[in-house]
Amino acid sequence: MERLQKVIAQAGVTSRRKAEGLITEGKVSVNGVKVTELGTKVDPEKDEVAVNGVPIDKEEPVYFLLYKPTGVISSVSDEHGRKVVTDYIHSEQRVYPIGRLDSDTSGLLLLTNDGDFANLLMHPKYKIKKTYIAKVEGMPLRETVKQLERGVKLEDGKTAPAKVKVKKTEKKKNTSVVEITIHEGKNRQVRRMFEHVGHPVLKLKRETYGFLSLHGLNAGESRELKPHEVKQLR
Ligand code: URA
Repeated sequence: MERLQKVIAQAGVTSRRKAEGLITEGKVSVNGVKVTELGTKVDPEKDEVAVNGVPIDKEEPVYFLLYKPTGVISSVSDEHGRKVVTDYIHSEQRVYPIGRLDSDTSGLLLLTNDGDFANLLMHPKYKIKKTYIAKVEGMPLRETVKQLERGVKLEDGKTAPAKVKVKKTEKKKNTSVVEITIHEGKNRQVRRMFEHVGHPVLKLKRETYGFLSLHGLNAGESRELKPHEVKQLR
């Protein structure tokens, strides 16, 4: 058991002296009951301490947009010591990626410590549009583009309608740059779609996620989302 003011201070809410002030002012509750006695002891593991009605162990939610470089794992740790996306986020809070990009895919990835927000965005009913730039082998015919747009049958089901645009073809190298917008998140979906139509992906980058883009960022750089951006995504 610990003294209440110490528990509040250790949670990073305020200093111990100011915590004493909050207690005597009647702003602190333990398990929903107001406490004004300075000597009160609580169990920091079991008792719910709240200041102004807000539980003290509730971490402040944070939201980051990362330009993931290729070769980085979409995870918070890797048993083989490879670089992970959280290595690129400088935050007091422990964040994790919202969904994932393949290690060999670069581009826009969101990270947060807000579980509700992450679940919301990953829910299929949200249908958030994601645009990828794929460098593929060969030069897709117009009919192939239409096939990708209508949807292709992968082993885990048919893909939903997509938008596909051939941006550039390099005849000599026999490669093309194709922009594809999808709203699903099947595993390695873009790579499998192109593989299916005979144009294996050589390079893949996610350029946008909903209305968010990589504007102003280089690979390996991140920024916090602005409150209005978080609000707009919800
Ligand atoms: N589709 C893929 O194939 N890979 C990704 O990383 C994202 C979408």
